[in-house]
Amino acid sequence: MNKYKDIGLKRTPQRLAIIEYLYDNFDHPTVDDIYADIRVKFPTMSLATVYKTLETLKEKGYLKELTIDKERKHFDPDTTRHYHLICIKCKKIVDVNKEFSIKIPIGDHNNFEVIDTNIEFYGICPVCKKRRT
Ligand code: ZN
Ligand code: MN
Repeated sequence: MNKYKDIGLKRTPQRLAIIEYLYDNFDHPTVDDIYADIRVKFPTMSLATVYKTLETLKEKGYLKELTIDKERKHFDPDTTRHYHLICIKCKKIVDVNKEFSIKIPIGDHNNFEVIDTNIEFYGICPVCKKRRT
């Protein structure tokens, strides 16, 4: 995400703070994470402003919405194609950085022209694994 690009919204300090927070943030924050952080600096900012800003960033293609966690949406400023690992215990989401592809075997395309894939991996993170033993 380029924080200096025109995001199609008036550049208020609150919105810039949201962009600043998301920039190079690979932790896949939720709306609540973002709101909690920005509120420290801007106590009067509403949750609606956060939603609106995220929605606009998403529409403009600067932000990806992740639905890997069934309970809460997470946001990812890295809009390049990459896959995720989610911990089924603490819901932590991390990137799979290596590039690889999974292909549908020829003959199983059902005449579709396949244009994209979204692969999610579920597991138990090292912290939760330690806690369990
Ligand atoms: Zn975990
Ligand atoms: Mn990611």
